[in-house]
Amino acid sequence: MRLLLLAPPGAGKGTQGERLAAWCGARHIAAGDLLRACARDGGPLGAQIAACQARGDLVPDQIVLDVLTPAVVAAAGEGGYILDGFPRTLPQATAAADLAARLGVSLDAAIYLHAPDEVLTRRLLDRASRSGRSDDAADVIPHRLRVYAETTGPLVPYYTERGILVTVDADQPPDSVAADIQARLSGLARPTSGR
Ligand code: ADP
Repeated sequence: MRLLLLAPPGAGKGTQGERLAAWCGARHIAAGDLLRACARDGGPLGAQIAACQARGDLVPDQIVLDVLTPAVVAAAGEGGYILDGFPRTLPQATAAADLAARLGVSLDAAIYLHAPDEVLTRRLLDRASRSGRSDDAADVIPHRLRVYAETTGPLVPYYTERGILVTVDADQPPDSVAADIQARLSGLARPTSGR
């Protein structure tokens, strides 16, 4: 199974990504986590990534591709992947499509999790005390939502045109969101087949 999760901050990409990976035996590849790990490694690249994340800005496409490509290549040769937070810009989507073509694979679905901004903001503020993330802050969250709308929002029509968009209401408890996703995928999914 090869899926991607397309969603604004706070919609539950991470939670649903982990569940989906366990459900279908694919690898959960979380762009934000991989980039945060690079930021922790330090050096000039790490500092650049950390600064982008703290501001709520996107990390430059080339850095993202350098970090994500090895993980995607490895997972494509195994049980597939659940891409969480990648691609997040149109150039990243084009690069991801080129990479998949080179690997001889294609996406089964792009799952679009949506919820109203006030729900997203409330969840991110709730998470702030536990996450320790520099971007879960009241002055950064509105900027992250704007960046999402302007830069990642255009991926919704992009994947709709390609016929693989699956839209799910993320303003529900996690179990209900997971059940909806699985129901919507059941026509496509062959859990454990390692497709
Ligand atoms: P959220 O989606 O809740 O903001 P993530 O952990 O997915 O959380 O992303 C956190 C931050 O990591 C983003 O604000 C951005 O700085 C960076 N990031 C994650 N994925 C990408 C990507 N594909 N392209 C550029 N930056 C990214």
